[in-house]
Amino acid sequence: DVNVRDIVETSLQTVEKQAKDKGIDIKVGYPEESLTIKTDKDKLIRVFVNLLTNAIKFTPHNGEVEISVTDFGDHIQASIRDNGIGISAEKREKIFDKFYQVDSTATRKAGGTGLGLAIIKGIIDRQGGSIFVESETDKGSTFTFRLPKELKEEDFTEIEQY
Ligand code: ATP
Ligand code: MG
Repeated sequence: DVNVRDIVETSLQTVEKQAKDKGIDIKVGYPEESLTIKTDKDKLIRVFVNLLTNAIKFTPHNGEVEISVTDFGDHIQASIRDNGIGISAEKREKIFDKFYQVDSTATRKAGGTGLGLAIIKGIIDRQGGSIFVESETDKGSTFTFRLPKELKEEDFTEIEQY
């Protein structure tokens, strides 16, 4: 079992410099009771780091990024909210596709390959979870994912392998 709080703290350390360079202070909210989940630690870190990297990348200097972790019954839920450039409704359908990047000056300047979201959606789907985005252009975006707390032993073995 992995403690979700530990995963978030490790992920935050990974993006600390990027955030600092943009003057972004990342706020985090945890539930009162500690949350644990049966999952591959490194893959869950990857999910948080990818979403945080995007949030920082597509948010202007001195913007806000906030993580909120909640207990969602037999799932954990985490939201990563930013007040950055946002994503139009039409583009929102495509951002989880491999190599898709919103074709704007801001995006091209931000670099990357357009794989991040496709990879983490793969990780989340394979664990029986889900991910979705809510966004408004120029207001910001919120990515929310849910993962089951328990996995059957055979599923877990499979997850460790991919
Ligand atoms: P990579 O993750 O491979 O370095 P990337 O960040 O461009 O490259 P994804 O993480 O898959 O690729 O995201 C796809 C596209 O979705 C981005 O290029 C960007 O246009 C859009 N996007 C993702 N997250 C956000 C966000 N928080 N705010 C605005 N746009 C976003
Ligand atoms: Mg990315």
